[in-house]
Amino acid sequence: MLRDCDLNEITDGKRYLLNDMVKADCNDCKGCSVCCHDMGASIVLDPLDCYRLSNALNRPFEAMLDSQLELNIVDGLILPNLKMKETPDKACVFLNDSNRCSIHPHRPGICRIFPLGRLYEENSFSYILQVNECPNDKKSKIKVSKWIDTPDLKKNQQFIADWHYFLKELHERLLAQGDEECIKKTTMQLLQFFYIEPYVSTQDFYTQFYTRLNHFKALSF
Ligand code: SF4
Ligand code: SF4
Repeated sequence: MLRDCDLNEITDGKRYLLNDMVKADCNDCKGCSVCCHDMGASIVLDPLDCYRLSNALNRPFEAMLDSQLELNIVDGLILPNLKMKETPDKACVFLNDSNRCSIHPHRPGICRIFPLGRLYEENSFSYILQVNECPNDKKSKIKVSKWIDTPDLKKNQQFIADWHYFLKELHERLLAQGDEECIKKTTMQLLQFFYIEPYVSTQDFYTQFYTRLNHFKALSF
């Protein structure tokens, strides 16, 4: 998601890489679940997030749209996000009665890195520490790579950058074309290619993703 804001107001002013230590460890959150409430449509899911969720819950992407995910427009494209309950506390649908994440090992990338965020620059990205989002003022230092708790880290980081810059380029191309029909058709194709068409759960996600990416680019770029 593209955001236009002053980094000095929302971060500690530093950029972090995987081997850096960062004061982000909330020590198991100790009863807090603030960041799992009232997040609106901000927990946007990439294809890896949906692949993980679909495998963990044994539900195809389209079935999850009934109550767990929803679709919204993000930077001109239709993308899925986690749904918040329509109750007064607006909790994430995956927050259980003990205020814990019921899908913790399979949680989306945005939840994995919080209170870190990603800052995209020059075809790559670094991590930033968001200082106004988490009320825990007793955080400990932890290595970024340990905090984000993601296997195949090298492939994962490449995928995150490639997905971001692919969406950015697609959005810019569609804006330049300005053809409503073409925008509609391409955004539906994007959903179909990367989310609706099931991935093979026993095969490497990244291999499947890059096959689809190359195919999509050949058709649309
Ligand atoms: S706001 Fe901070 S302490 Fe609270 S649940 Fe989120 S990460 Fe944990
Ligand atoms: S998926 Fe889990 S960590 Fe993420 S907002 Fe929902 S309950 Fe919280």
